[in-house]
Formats: sequence, structure tokens, C-alpha cells
Amino acid sequence: MRTITLSNGDMVEVDCLSCALTSGTVEPEGGVIAETEHFHAHQDVAYPIRGLVIVASKRHIKGLDELTEDEQQDYITFLTKIRKAQRETLGIEHVYYFYNEDTTHHFHLWMVPRYDWMYEFGRSVESVRPVLLHARENEKDHAHVLEGIRLLTEGLKE
Ligand SMILES: [Zn+2]
Repeated sequence: MRTITLSNGDMVEVDCLSCALTSGTVEPEGGVIAETEHFHAHQDVAYPIRGLVIVASKRHIKGLDELTEDEQQDYITFLTKIRKAQRETLGIEHVYYFYNEDTTHHFHLWMVPRYDWMYEFGRSVESVRPVLLHARENEKDHAHVLEGIRLLTEGLKE
């Protein structure tokens, strides 16, 4: 078991945060953006970037090559829908995708929108971590981030 501090300050004990989120044991701040039979999308508001989406599998797996054929189809269709909603409802022109298999959670992909201010940290993969930390330390407008979640959630219902 690991103790995780949620963004609202509550502490929960979970074996795997991704399992806790996708099963509904832990409610992400801002709620569930969308879900399918095999995947679940939410935002980690600890990194307050408007339009950032985390897509986690519902099964406790770590590797891309563990996805069944059904899950593979569901995954790419779901990612494409989310990407489209980011573009259409929030005007997000570019997204960075980050996924690591040696996670302490389980299979989850970060879809990180690219905004102009991020280019001061460089381009490509080396800028991702500094961008996330910068957002965590400097972005205090949570209402703006929560509004982004709401717009994406509505956009994905259509
Ligand atoms: Zn898990």
C-alpha cells in the first residue's frame, strides 16, 4: 500500500493510483472526463495545465504490448476523440504524449497541450518535466483549469 495525498489535501491508501482512479475508488478533482469499456480519462490537477488529459487503462497492466486487440482498437479511437475535443473545444494546436512503462501506477498516457509559454523550456521531450513543474509552482488559476475539464467533458459527450 502507498499513501497518496490528493489535490484537496485528503490522504488515501491505495495499492495502485491508476486502479483507484479507474475503478472510481478515488474521484479525480474535476471528475471523469470520459471513459470507455477499457479506458478512463481524467486530469491530474496537481499539474494545472488547461486541457491536460491522462488516459489510463482499466486493467492493471504496464506494457503497451499487453493490450488485447479490443483494447488496442478502443485506445486509438479514444485518444483520437480526446485529441479532437482538445482542438475543437480548447483550441489546442499541438499535444505532447508521454508514457513510461516503469510506472509505480499502471498503464497511463499523458496528453500535454503545448502552449507558447512552454517554449522557454525548449522543445521536445527534455522540456516536459520543467514545464510540468513550472505549471505546478506558478499556475494558480485553478478555475481556468477546471473550466477546461468541463469543456472537454461536454465536448466528449457529443
Ligand atoms: Zn493498477
